[in-house]
Amino acid sequence: MAKKTVRDMAVEGKRVLVRVDFNVPLDMKTGVITDDSRIRAALPTIRYLVEHKAKVILCSHLGRPDGKVVEKLQMQPVAQRLSQLMNLPVATVPDCIGDAAEKAVNALKDGDILLLENIRFHAEEKANAPAFAQALAKLADIYVDDAFGTAHRAHASTVGVTRYLPAVAGFLMEKELEALGSILTNPEHPFAALLGGAKVSDKISLIQNILEKVDLILIGGGMAATFLKAQGYEVGASLVEADKQTLAYELAETAKRNRASLLLPTDVVVASNITAEATGEVVPIANIPPSKYIVDIGPETIELFSQQIRGCRTVFWNGPMGVYEIPQFAQGTKAMVELLAGLKATTIVGGGSTAEIVEEMNLSYRMTHVSTGGGASLTFLEGKTLPGVAVLLDKK
Ligand code: ADP
Ligand code: MG
Repeated sequence: MAKKTVRDMAVEGKRVLVRVDFNVPLDMKTGVITDDSRIRAALPTIRYLVEHKAKVILCSHLGRPDGKVVEKLQMQPVAQRLSQLMNLPVATVPDCIGDAAEKAVNALKDGDILLLENIRFHAEEKANAPAFAQALAKLADIYVDDAFGTAHRAHASTVGVTRYLPAVAGFLMEKELEALGSILTNPEHPFAALLGGAKVSDKISLIQNILEKVDLILIGGGMAATFLKAQGYEVGASLVEADKQTLAYELAETAKRNRASLLLPTDVVVASNITAEATGEVVPIANIPPSKYIVDIGPETIELFSQQIRGCRTVFWNGPMGVYEIPQFAQGTKAMVELLAGLKATTIVGGGSTAEIVEEMNLSYRMTHVSTGGGASLTFLEGKTLPGVAVLLDKK
């Protein structure tokens, strides 16, 4: 069911606690933010609240401080970047609860912004400790969750706090739920799922949930090895998840029964080792040398996948087609980014690495939606309820 959003609340003059995902990548030597897209993604909600004269109290985690204060993971640089992006002052405070935080909140005027200190400096955050959640809730009148990327975790700032405050979705959360929800509920057909990544075991629940909805499923990446092996091909030294072979075979059979096509690579790039110096060689899947690893899909497969995907109205993509971190093995993945970017179809990209590649190639704007929520987007597409979403108020 659709969730209430900030639009459904009277926020003027109210203290609004917004859980954002400002877990941005930092250069650990210099402390510089290397990618601010997560901050940018939260701007629509923050702007709305400022324009509607709320007192905006932001909270997020940053990195993995494991319940201790870690100087390098303080929110100060994030506040500065947010301030630049908003062109407004952003206050900070050395803690996210307690006297200092309460004082900082009391000093806010309507339309002001305060960024609380890293919420994971307290172990109680991840433990979802009620007293901590209550201390956080005490700072505000309304809670807004705009951190889709952490919605699959039941923490104090995503779940606990909602016991004490009316809880609604921010605009990013709303957009994620709509975009990902649409491919599960009413995708335009033909609907293709392009799947890759390292391991089948990471993606089984996703494949199972999506298999009934798609017309076409295309499999590349490391996980293609297990599917190829299940079809009787020798895959050399590639990782085969032996315990998943039967399942890979059954998934292919289920696809047939559903009259969906399940396409595997017809040629692959192989290499003797997976290192920056390695060179690749294109071979048909029937001739994979025993000592070599599959590291990318081959040119014939790129062509085959492209032809099939071009005929689709909806394409969901998760998982790189090869070891894209090594430039010579990134061709299949890059070809798929360019293909999707050029389509008129609805294109939805999910998964941490996959989103990162699209972002690096500066083609996010050509996709219908690139999910900001790595693990959360997968959990959602597995058909599971995200704890941080379940606790938000339903729209009538
Ligand atoms: P996402 O984060 O988008 O969900 P995954 O985490 O499932 O994607 O997969 C990303 C990883 O998969 C990358 O580190 C990439 O190197 C790896 N990968 C892709 N193809 C292969 C392959 N053929 N062999 C080994 N690893 C692969
Ligand atoms: Mg990943």
